[in-house]
Formats: sequence, structure tokens, C-alpha cells
Amino acid sequence: MNTEELLRLLACPRCLGDLGALESDGQTAGFACDACAVVYPVRERIPVMLVEEAIPRDQWDRQHPGGRELTRGEA
Ligand SMILES: [Zn+2]
Repeated sequence: MNTEELLRLLACPRCLGDLGALESDGQTAGFACDACAVVYPVRERIPVMLVEEAIPRDQWDRQHPGGRELTRGEA
């Protein structure tokens, strides 16, 4: 399953909103919800879509400098 397919299937577990994929080193490293300002991390290639595991977006950006975001349709 590629990132484009995941973006279509996944929704934020908190607000059920759309997500953007965050890349780091050429791989999808997390899925971001802009409304909640959090990132759901991808661990061992599996998206962890749990509110308890969400990482605040500002913390994520500090941990992943130079990461880029893909939105639905361009992944
Ligand atoms: Zn959300």
C-alpha cells in the first residue's frame, strides 16, 4: 500500500479530519493533522493512529528538520 492509498484511507482519530504525509529521508515518517497540530508517527512502516501516541507538531518539526509534507493528490 503506498502513501497515496494510505492518505485516502486514514483519518485523524481525534477529529476525523484529513491528514498530510510527512516525509523524512525519502520515507513517510508520519501523518499530520493540521486541525489538531499533531503528527501520528509511522513505526516499522505501520502508521500508529492513536491519540495517545500523537506527537505535537512543533516537537515533530524540531525532531525532523528539513522534512517535507505531502498532501492528498500529490503523494
Ligand atoms: Zn485531528
